[in-house]
Amino acid sequence: MSYQIEKEVAISAVIEAGKLCENVRQNIPPALEKQDKSPVTVADFGSQAIICKALKEAFPDIPIVGEEDATELRQEISQDTISKITQYVEKIIPSATTKNVLDWIDYGNGKVCRKFWTLDPIDGTKGFLRQDQYAIALALIEDGEVKLGIMGCPALSFGEETGYIFVAERGKGSYKMPLSGGEFTKLQVVSEEDVSRFRFVESVEASHGDQIQQNAIAKAVGITTDSVRVDSQAKYGIVASGEAALYLRLPSPKYPNYRENIWDHAAGAIIVEEAGGKVTDMDGKPLNFRDNEKMLDNRGVVASNGAIHEKALQALKD
Ligand code: AMP
Ligand code: MG
Repeated sequence: MSYQIEKEVAISAVIEAGKLCENVRQNIPPALEKQDKSPVTVADFGSQAIICKALKEAFPDIPIVGEEDATELRQEISQDTISKITQYVEKIIPSATTKNVLDWIDYGNGKVCRKFWTLDPIDGTKGFLRQDQYAIALALIEDGEVKLGIMGCPALSFGEETGYIFVAERGKGSYKMPLSGGEFTKLQVVSEEDVSRFRFVESVEASHGDQIQQNAIAKAVGITTDSVRVDSQAKYGIVASGEAALYLRLPSPKYPNYRENIWDHAAGAIIVEEAGGKVTDMDGKPLNFRDNEKMLDNRGVVASNGAIHEKALQALKD
């Protein structure tokens, strides 16, 4: 089965949503952003509106399980916010109206079923606010398996170039392309011999993991350098690109019962797997994208180059 059309529509929608996010980010001075969280809301909602519109028109039968919802935006008190969102969406889709935008956002209220999209219109909100990393993450799931992952990382740099889109299709490899244009290049995870890239990534936000344990596990698998801290699913993109060997996300001692959302991992996971890596929870179980918006029977996430995966899981057991 090929997902060529799904892939093309998804790539173009994620690129357009990335433009909206960057417009929001660049039009507001960073200091103002930190105090007032509304700009983030504007970009989250605008990104979801753009992607849902494109997917709804091309694939009316495939529901979208998106992170955002327009219920609060429809209230009187949110008039300012929704008009700002509409202004940003209009820059990308000139014919957009407020009503359209609200309806497009709510098209992302689909339920998990046999075949569906899952969308995080801005993953790593806190990174977005800090002018650090964030991702626009979209995945197609069928029969519980991620078939397509498309991830926009407008602020991520490799070498001189900033802004990338990652694309993976099951069985067909992972690729990245600069958002400024150019070619897709095939991705391959790092080997243990590549010492300078043999490092690990974790969240910037301490409360999204267990940094002490993460560091101990990394040491146990032979990683000798400090972690690289990055927001959002961009971490998966870094592992897939061979710029790190391991991504550890262990439950925070502060929130031991936290369960991960499917939209926070589906796109990133296939991007690592199709680059030759491996992704499981901390007990070695596959991530469950089949049953629920939350991965209720998984704890934590371990993504690796594959070669060191068992070693990492064993260290977690010990
Ligand atoms: P990151 O940028 O990798 O730190 O992850 C951002 C994501 O962390 C957000 O999309 C949230 O859904 C998620 N998140 C929020 N609270 C927690 C938590 N206690 N543990 C793990 N992830 C969390
Ligand atoms: Mg998220």
